[in-house]
Amino acid sequence: MTRPLLNRRLAEFGTTIFAEMSALAARTGSINLGQGFPDTDGPEEIREAAVRALRDGLGNQYPPGPGVPELRRAVADHQREWYGLTYDPDAEVLVTAGATEAIAAALLALVEPGDEVIALEPYYDSYAACVAMAGGTRVPVTLRPHEGAYVLDLDELRAAVTDRTRLILLNTPHNPTGTVLTRAELTAVAELAIERDLLVVTDEVYEHLVFDDAEHVPLASLPGMRERTVTIGSAGKTFSFTGWKVGWITASPELTAAVRSAKQFLTYVSSGPFQYAIAEALRLPAAYFDGLRADLRAKRDLLSEGLAQAGFEVYRPAGTYFVTTDIRPLGADDGFAFCRSLPERAGVVAIPNAVFYDHREAGAPFVRFAFCKKTEVLEEAVNRLKRLA
Ligand SMILES: *Cc1c(COP(=O)(O)O)cnc(C)c1O
Repeated sequence: MTRPLLNRRLAEFGTTIFAEMSALAARTGSINLGQGFPDTDGPEEIREAAVRALRDGLGNQYPPGPGVPELRRAVADHQREWYGLTYDPDAEVLVTAGATEAIAAALLALVEPGDEVIALEPYYDSYAACVAMAGGTRVPVTLRPHEGAYVLDLDELRAAVTDRTRLILLNTPHNPTGTVLTRAELTAVAELAIERDLLVVTDEVYEHLVFDDAEHVPLASLPGMRERTVTIGSAGKTFSFTGWKVGWITASPELTAAVRSAKQFLTYVSSGPFQYAIAEALRLPAAYFDGLRADLRAKRDLLSEGLAQAGFEVYRPAGTYFVTTDIRPLGADDGFAFCRSLPERAGVVAIPNAVFYDHREAGAPFVRFAFCKKTEVLEEAVNRLKRLA
């Protein structure tokens, strides 16, 4: 057989860097600040809710295709209470197997082969693969470091739109840079989408992880955007249950129906009993969400200060649980080589941001650390990283 087994659409996507780096962490006994999953589980009462659902026979068989009504109502209520957005739980909410399936289903449903999809670079790794699976062409718009934060160049975004652009794939709060797009930036994105008649798929899985003065503004809440926006949410990051894979979209009836057309042939349904538990989680009092934010803000500060003391230039994130650093002050400029040697030099694992770029050179000197870990783990990591200074 001379033909490669993996088709051309996926040939460029090898195994993810997370597999390589997590294996390296295990082999070297390093602290793994590479992959972004919490090292403690979410609220006990929500775990109990899942156990109760299992025991009561809720969701042990195929749940309804759009998701269980309790969760769809809870998602709609959450969007209304937090953002004043009203969605009909029957026609405008769709439960998915995590945000990952929501991204895949939205792109498979909305993109024709040859369509261009604009995504903010550095981007979450599944975006490029899903655009490729949909037969689309990705058009990266690069967020650039400026005065201690990553910013979106609105002129660059405008210039990236062509007659073939179908949609903008947005992510705010943004992984891996920690940037939270401002209302002014989002207003400019909205005006562009309306002017050029574009759809927007917006990945808001970190909606509750914003710090200090940053505010999460759902794009769908801006004038004229509700009918052209697919908003993606997930329980994984908000409730620290990344293994449950409960996500959702909210969108107009037409967009929701389109995304459901693709979703029904991906997983059809998933996470039955967990859907009931997340319906309860979304109704937790504000104190839960405040507590999560306060906990992660303290961890952000601990890791950011430790990294700065170790000699990194730190882009202090306004949101998410990742911090991006520049390694050039440490005399290095190749993030891959740096991350491969970091376990031996300091017993810590991080991720080279270049994997999130098409313009690899633009991402070369940047390295991402996750701070969704126990305080004592972060303290030990900071101690170890001092060896670099
Ligand atoms: C973690 C993450 C996802 C995936 O969410 P799941 O609900 O676990 O599938 C999607 N987008 C971004 C930006 C993420 O960081």
